[in-house]
Amino acid sequence: MSDSLKALQKLLSQINKISIVIHRNPDGDAIGAGLALQSFLQKKGLDVTLISPNEVPAYLKWLPGADQIKIFEQDKEAVKPVLNQSDIIFTLDFNDLTRTGKDLGNYLKQLTDKIFVMIDHHLEPADYALFTFSDSGKSSTSEMVYDFMDNLGGKDLIDKAMATNLYTGIMTDTGSFKFPNTTPHTMCIAAELMKKGINHNEIQIKIYDSFSLDKLHLLGEALHKLVFLPQYKTSYIALSKDDLQKYNYQKGDTEGFVNYGLSLKEADFAVLFLENDDEGVRISFRSKGKFPANEFAKKYFNGGGHLNAAGGRTNATLSEAVQLFLEKLPEFISTLKPIHG
Ligand code: 5GP
Ligand code: MN
Repeated sequence: MSDSLKALQKLLSQINKISIVIHRNPDGDAIGAGLALQSFLQKKGLDVTLISPNEVPAYLKWLPGADQIKIFEQDKEAVKPVLNQSDIIFTLDFNDLTRTGKDLGNYLKQLTDKIFVMIDHHLEPADYALFTFSDSGKSSTSEMVYDFMDNLGGKDLIDKAMATNLYTGIMTDTGSFKFPNTTPHTMCIAAELMKKGINHNEIQIKIYDSFSLDKLHLLGEALHKLVFLPQYKTSYIALSKDDLQKYNYQKGDTEGFVNYGLSLKEADFAVLFLENDDEGVRISFRSKGKFPANEFAKKYFNGGGHLNAAGGRTNATLSEAVQLFLEKLPEFISTLKPIHG
């Protein structure tokens, strides 16, 4: 066991209250990792609250324990005291407090007397945490939480509900074990989780084969709007507020849309622009091979992420955002020529 894990283990035996915070617009990995870690620490006798900045998307509400998650932006005055009373705040699946949104991010930043623990698999971790477990070589934070529990000698505490949460996190962050971030170790953990009695086929169906008709029609519209730029091996889709309203948009409905752009044989880079009520325009980036989607997101759209999957946002209008992207793409690609060709 590493020295820092030993020190954290000792600390966990001396304290009582813990909060776990996940990123804004939480995905399967953030929620799965959060719920599993919460159960694990509860089994160790600790009082643990899981906090999400905003709502759990409909397609993940079935996860065991998801109905108990506290939503900061819906209930600030109730959640702030929970954070104030926590001895330790775990932060999962993000590398910087700004990823929890303006409101929660600013609140966390002024809690300077708290012990923060980061468990995350994004590049460039910020340095707010006393304990930083950061490994961009891991498929998912859920994989890291599994290892965290295993390293603390707690593998036997993993029950079917925890295994379901962890498996969902790993499955969604690896695109059902097909992205390059999937390693032999990822597969070994998936096997261990299956031995806990999970129904992997049901999980797959609940996440990927449970779409509404509205969502499928919105996907049809999105695919119709897809533009391909052969000279840049790039595709993009821009969906306006009107497009979303037309199909009765629910949070999470566009999950996975960006991957269709990348499924085009000739595409190495795919982008999805979403006009949102509360965040201006949100942008998702996906790439194949060595194309650094995260660098593009960071350089032009206040974002970041992984080499092949990144996100960002802008306060510009939808058409301005697309314009900026079209303007910067040639310049960016020219800097890649040596590796991209
Ligand atoms: P998605 O496109 O699914 O929202 O995000 C893809 C990946 O990019 C995820 O790994 C996510 O953590 C990261 N990501 C998404 N939005 C942002 C952002 O605004 N900032 C940073 N640094 N990373 C992001
Ligand atoms: Mn993740």
